Amino acid sequence: MLKDVFGRRFYYLRLSITDVCNFRCEYCLPDGYQCEHDRQFLTLDEISRVARGFARLGTEKIRITGGEPALRKDLPQAIELCKQTSGINTVALTTNGFNMQSQYRHWMDAGLDALNVSIDSFDPRQFAAITGKDKLDSIMSAIDNALCDGFQQIKINTVLMREYNGHDLQQFFRYVKDKPISLRFIELMQTGDNRDFYNAQHVSGQHIKNQLLVNGWIPQVRAKTAGPAEVYQHSDYQGSIGLIMPYDKDFCATCNRLRVSSLGNLHLCLFSEQGLPIRQYLQTDDTREFEQNLVALLQDKKISHLLHDGLTGATKHLSMLGG
Ligand code: SAM
Ligand code: SF4
Repeated sequence: MLKDVFGRRFYYLRLSITDVCNFRCEYCLPDGYQCEHDRQFLTLDEISRVARGFARLGTEKIRITGGEPALRKDLPQAIELCKQTSGINTVALTTNGFNMQSQYRHWMDAGLDALNVSIDSFDPRQFAAITGKDKLDSIMSAIDNALCDGFQQIKINTVLMREYNGHDLQQFFRYVKDKPISLRFIELMQTGDNRDFYNAQHVSGQHIKNQLLVNGWIPQVRAKTAGPAEVYQHSDYQGSIGLIMPYDKDFCATCNRLRVSSLGNLHLCLFSEQGLPIRQYLQTDDTREFEQNLVALLQDKKISHLLHDGLTGATKHLSMLGG
């Protein structure tokens, strides 16, 4: 089992398959992707071995992320390999949705169980201002089509920002009224590169939580492979609302996630001081040495991140690791 010295168990792997991205989200890559290494991302064989090694140690869910994972042409194969791994019962994907319209059927056919699409505003102009891409309409149609095709496990990630969406949360509530979609508000996190933006735009999710509770939304019980969101439901709404509040004092106590970067480094936390090289153990199909090293490396996982002190570790932006 993957268990740390604080007794936390790790059922959930976030696996980045590229750090390249085609969007320029203000809080992540405002100047666009800058390549700082030779793009030797994990191969399909290595991805399969990562999945197998983690699964043998109790991991049940893998989220494929990036950068923008859908920029990799072999994404369907990566999904399929993870899904075929014995012990992995959920394969999820986080995407900015840029090619979802043309690709989602391939992802479903490959065995994808759940999809998170990032949408920070339902206003096309504001969406373009945040991401640098005029893509909202195509992403929204793709979501509607996927729902019509029976793909029900769709979530939307919305990063809370004072200026962009903090003043009009009703657009998000309206959206989930008649759609079986879980929309998660994520508090903006400080990273190495976004300090000024963070200082200007960060808002706490606490006021949304208060609003939900006052208006009859009911907190749901968290599953063991669930992500970090506190999820709320309401009898008048088909969808649900989630809150991810990494600055909450108990946020790290329930951590059940580990991360592997697209360059083959293990990250014990999104805000670790460094990634721990594991790629050398992924070169043969025998994953025993890999597993032994994972168990040993996990013992160094810290009790909490240090974001409250403005310490963001080695993470310059979340495109490096996948959020
Ligand atoms: N490119 C994909 C996407 O945007 O969905 C996957 C990678 S992205 C890094 C994963 C998630 O992290 C997205 O939902 C994004 O909005 C979120 N994210 C990125 N930077 C963030 C930050 N500084 N604070 C909070 N969330 C952030
Ligand atoms: Fe790209 Fe996702 Fe970062 Fe936006 S949040 S720049 S889509 S990696």
